[in-house]
Amino acid sequence: MLDPAGILSERVKGIEPSGIRRIFELMATMQDPINLSIGQPHYEAPAELVEAAHRAMQRGINRYTVTQGLPELNALILADVEKRCGVRPQTSLVTAGVSGGLMLAFQCLLNPGDEILLPDPGFVMYRHLATLCGAKVRYYDIYPTQEGGRFGVDLERFAELCTARTKVVLVNSPSNPTGAVLTREEIEGIAAIANRGGAEVGGTWVVSDEIYDFFTYEGEYTSLVGSAERCIQLGGYSKTYGIPGWRMGYATGPSNVLEAMKTLQQFSFVCAPAPFQQALLETIPKIDLSPYRAEYRGKRDYIAANLHPAYGLRAPEGAFYAFPQLPRTGSGAAVDSDRFMKAAIEKKLLIVPGKAFSARDTHFRVSYAADDATLARGIDALNELANQFA
Ligand code: PMP
Repeated sequence: MLDPAGILSERVKGIEPSGIRRIFELMATMQDPINLSIGQPHYEAPAELVEAAHRAMQRGINRYTVTQGLPELNALILADVEKRCGVRPQTSLVTAGVSGGLMLAFQCLLNPGDEILLPDPGFVMYRHLATLCGAKVRYYDIYPTQEGGRFGVDLERFAELCTARTKVVLVNSPSNPTGAVLTREEIEGIAAIANRGGAEVGGTWVVSDEIYDFFTYEGEYTSLVGSAERCIQLGGYSKTYGIPGWRMGYATGPSNVLEAMKTLQQFSFVCAPAPFQQALLETIPKIDLSPYRAEYRGKRDYIAANLHPAYGLRAPEGAFYAFPQLPRTGSGAAVDSDRFMKAAIEKKLLIVPGKAFSARDTHFRVSYAADDATLARGIDALNELANQFA
């Protein structure tokens, strides 16, 4: 971050603005863009949920709640996690989105100099929040080992990276930006490695960002809650219910860490928004969201079936992202990322370059959280680009 007047703290100077924000700025200047850069569902929040929020505000549920969130909502969260993951975490906390949960978990677990393992590519926020704690960031590569392969975790390599000084490993399945869902073997492998790691830092903790768990299209979703002994699970409502602006999420885990997160929430976010807690409490048991998942699976299938083979895309198993590779030019070399992005923008197509999520710049993120017409235009534009560069 630029600071010519020397005003800013050292802590914040290590933080760069998000590469995605530039795309937002660009979009504002474009007419009728084909926007496949969005990290939120394209559908509206269910009407029942919005009505419940409206009613809650009219009934005067506008004050603070207790820091940890409404007891009935916490009970619902724990019962739901137990049903889905087969294990009941000791306790839970309603957070201001998964972002709020990440901030609290990192602040409560990481000392300066502690190592944290992050996925590469991975969600932009992790690195910066870890840097704020003074942690030493290391990456585990989740790129396919061969062209057209799946994104996933090489457990042998992961075991080497997870050292006696590794305090946290961050797992994000389904993944932003790849859409990959880790297999049961990968999840259990990671848990086993973490369970024996971190001897010099009191044990390795898994922070499991499960915000896209609902958007799993192949088989059953496996949570780390079932196998990691030291696990902070972060779950969210932003994506599933189409309410990213509500800032609602939750954390579960052992009371020793969750109590600290709760205390820090008291002195930072205070609580998650009261009327939205009430609205979710009333509505979650009544709404069937499976049609949304079916719709997104259809969009995923459409992309996988129609994207030009030059992108080497294997159907992603979850979330609403695909992470195709940059196509190769006639000479066999991958096209330069900046050149590709520029050509995409000339076609009014907004996608996010891989370097926003990674040390590498060999892929790009397509979000298929868009209406069918936009998606079709986007795939046409991408296919034209593939032919143009071939
Ligand atoms: N984790 C991942 C992987 C995400 O993609 C996002 C949102 N883009 C978040 C966390 C934050 O979500 P929220 O704070 O809205 O719950």
